[in-house]
Parts: sequence; C-alpha cells; structure tokens
Amino acid sequence: MKKLVIIGQGPAGISAALYAVRGGADVTVVAKDLGALAKADKIENYYGFEHGISAKELILAGIAQAKNLGAHFIENEVCGIEFSADGYDVKLGDGCSLSAGAVIIAVGTSRNVPKIGNIQRFEGSGVSYCAICDGFFFRGKKVAVIGNAAYALSEYNVLKNIIEDVTILSDGNIPSFDSPACNTKKIDRFEGNEHLESVVFSDGTSEHFDAAFIACGSAGAFELSKKLGLETDNGKIVTDYNCATNIPGIFAAGDCTKGLQQIAKAVYEGMIAGTQALKYLKSLG
Ligand SMILES: Cc1cc2nc3c(=O)[nH]c(=O)nc-3n(C[C@H](O)[C@H](O)[C@H](O)COP(=O)(O)OP(=O)(O)OC[C@H]3O[C@@H](n4cnc5c(N)ncnc54)[C@H](O)[C@@H]3O)c2cc1C
Repeated sequence: MKKLVIIGQGPAGISAALYAVRGGADVTVVAKDLGALAKADKIENYYGFEHGISAKELILAGIAQAKNLGAHFIENEVCGIEFSADGYDVKLGDGCSLSAGAVIIAVGTSRNVPKIGNIQRFEGSGVSYCAICDGFFFRGKKVAVIGNAAYALSEYNVLKNIIEDVTILSDGNIPSFDSPACNTKKIDRFEGNEHLESVVFSDGTSEHFDAAFIACGSAGAFELSKKLGLETDNGKIVTDYNCATNIPGIFAAGDCTKGLQQIAKAVYEGMIAGTQALKYLKSLG
C-alpha cells in the first residue's frame, strides 16, 4: 500500500493517524509544533476527564499513543503539496519531500496575513498567496516575497526558477536564513492604481514591485489549498461527509475545515479522514 502523510499533530491529525495505522497504513505525521492546544491551559469539556486535563498533557498523550501504534513522526514545516507520478509529494521546509499516495491536511486555523496597508485592495492585482500558481504571470517583472522563514525561502526558490528579479522583504523581522540577502525594512503599505506598483516602507522610502507574494510564518490551510487547487470557503477547506476534498486522495480534518473549532469535532473528523484515506489507499492496490 502507498504511504499516508498527515500534516499536523493536533487532535485531528493524531486521531486520523490512530485509525489509519491500526487499519494497516504506513503513516507519517509531519508537524511543526503542538498546534492550538499548546496555547490552551486546562480542557474541561472533552470526554472522559472527570477533573479536566492539561491541554499539553492531552496532546502529548495522543502523540505517544500514535507512536506506540507505529505511526512515524517528523518535526518539520510543510511548504506545499504537489502532484507526482506516485500521487503526491509533500514539500518540507528543509527542501526534502515525502512521497504519499494520500494526504490528510490537519493544519488547524492559523493564517498569517501581515498588517500591511492596502494588502486586501491589491489581492489578485499583484498581491498573491501562491508562487506556483501566480509566478508565471510575472515573468520578466520585478517581484517581492514577504516573509522571513522557511516558507518565504521556499516561495523564493519557486519564483527564482521563472523570474530573475526576486527580493525577499522580511518586514522588519530577522531572517532565519543567511542567503539570499533580504531587505529587512518594516513595510508600511502597498501602493498602485489598478495594480500593485510599489512597496512603501515605514522609513518613508519606497521600491517598485510588480507583485508581492505573501509567505509570512508557515503555509496554512489556505496557502496549501491554493497550490493544489483545493476548494476553500472563507479560508476553510471544503470537504464532504467523508472529509474528502475536491481532489481524490486529499482529505482534511479539524479546525481547517468548516464548523466548530473544538477538540471533539477535530477528533471526529480525524477518525473519518483516517478511515477514508485508508480505504482510498487500499483501492489504489
Ligand atoms: C487558547 C485555546 C483554548 C482552547 N480551549 C479549548 C477547550 O477548552 N475545548 C476544546 O474542545 N477546544 C479548545 N480549543 C480549540 C482546540 O484547541 C482546537 O479545536 C483543536 O486543537 C483543533 O485541532 P486540529 O488538529 O484541527 O488543529 P491544531 O490542534 O491547531 O493542530 C494543527 C497542527 O498542524 C500543524 N501545522 C500547521 N501548519 C503546518 C505546516 N505548514 N507544516 C507542518 N505542520 C503544520 C501544527 O504544528 C499542529 O501540529 C482551544 C484553543 C485555544 C487556542
């Protein structure tokens, strides 16, 4: 059977891993951190804990349970998912990739949209959230990537394959990489008429750019969906009652889909996504 890659080790990703691995799938969970529960204190509304439980304890117990059952874990950031001959290549922040027959996206809600003036005004008119989708339109032009970490570097590398003049703007943040050199000035706003024409910095200077690719923090559900062509609604991944997306072999569960943002819902959807991904992988032979 081909491999299952689960992106996220929150309640949705872990629940999916438990069901898929017990059903015989070769499961790899890749996650960058502990997700939303790392920010929570005590959980009092999840089934089975008479006096509540510490959020961290709950998530660490789930991870240990999945590991005991045979799921593999990789601590890394996912920068994209691409179609491949074998199904999908899950692209990691260190430049490596994981091959998968099916993928479950369980990345939670986080979406990093920087506070830059006029950003929404130029969305679709020079401001993009996906280098692989929109880079082609700016061949021969001058473009910026906004961000300072692995995801920004990954988007830079995608653009560099097709565009010569690409600059990373770290928006006042310290870059996590040495090369390429970045412009580290804080950004105040975007300017232009119909289309983005320049980036204005907080020190009053400005620089001409035909496009700005937003890649702050890490790729969330919205960015991963754009790259693959997954249907979204208000930033959430659209799924059916099987947690299936509009692309065969790609499932989604938890806070990154519509509905209540609660552990019980994430665990439920993880179970569905895990069992349905297993069924899908078996159908591939
Ligand atoms: C302060 C706070 C208190 C809460 N209290 C409660 C409560 O009392 N009861 C309750 O039911 N719910 C509570 N919640 C909500 C609950 O935490 C979420 O509904 C639940 O964690 C969602 O699970 P998830 O697996 O979908 O996402 P998350 O738990 O957010 O997990 C997302 C996972 O995806 C990973 N990830 C994201 N992007 C990437 C990427 N690009 N590459 C690799 N990995 C990635 C993260 O590292 C993480 O492992 C609370 C949330 C917060 C923030």
